Amino acid sequence: MEPVNLLELSEADLKKFLSSFDHVFSDCDGVVWETRNPMPGAGKFFELMKRLGKTVHFVSNNSLRTKADYEAKFKSADIKEGYENLTIPSTAIAEYLKSLHFDKAVYCVSCPETVAVLTSHGFECKEGPEVGTYYYSDYIEYLTDDEEIGAVVFDSDFKVNLPKLYKALTYLRRPEVLFINGATDRYVPLKAGVLTLGTGVFSDIASEESKRKPVLLGKPGKMFGEFAMRRAGVSDPSRVLFIGDMIEQDVGLGRAVGFNTLLVLTNKTKEEMMSHETLKPDYYADNLGSIVPILEPLVK
Ligand SMILES: [Mg+2]
Repeated sequence: MEPVNLLELSEADLKKFLSSFDHVFSDCDGVVWETRNPMPGAGKFFELMKRLGKTVHFVSNNSLRTKADYEAKFKSADIKEGYENLTIPSTAIAEYLKSLHFDKAVYCVSCPETVAVLTSHGFECKEGPEVGTYYYSDYIEYLTDDEEIGAVVFDSDFKVNLPKLYKALTYLRRPEVLFINGATDRYVPLKAGVLTLGTGVFSDIASEESKRKPVLLGKPGKMFGEFAMRRAGVSDPSRVLFIGDMIEQDVGLGRAVGFNTLLVLTNKTKEEMMSHETLKPDYYADNLGSIVPILEPLVK
């Protein structure tokens, strides 16, 4: 089915749309806020959703932010209890390891905040080196296995380098070592109109070279979506509207789990959305603020 423009729905179809879900799960970057500022009207949109009886949750691939940073961002967007209702890869990875009673060390090719989250859940983390040397024969030390490592985690390491990849691949040679990925975004919207390479390209290299498929605990991984559902106390994915700005991560997650999807065109053009070969959202809108005027008359 072709994506439907929410702003072109008749009143009857708008009501049908609103009764098709009970829960709103929303991405954050590019939907609730752009790099620095809240998106106009986003806070109002979620307030209206709550007044229409929907529960509101947030699902982001961004483990890089601290709790304080997330709380400040939700506050600036006028959203209450945003952080309490937020699911990110680092917490999903910690919960996953706990569910396996994991008791070895984790090799982290990740942002410092993911290491902090895993450490706070009691896991021993090893990292680095942050800098390699120039002469390749020095790299032989990164080919030495470390039997204490029981898992390799990739999650948004913007300081990833060749020594870290060597180490990760060395540990992944042992089949019992868990291979876990948080965010695997190939592109990130850093600047309006430009998509920049994300750290997912490096986890792709690790996957290709180790010939192993990671457990994906970030969007668009099905397990991550199901983890977010459990956290939100939701059992039926078909009663969830997932809102995002990225086709691969957000519409992809919706497809994997069975959510309805709404794409906001803050980082994609309508042409890009229409020309995607396999993933199309159910609905689209320019941004969340643009939907506010059609929802307001429905809230007494
Ligand atoms: Mg986004």
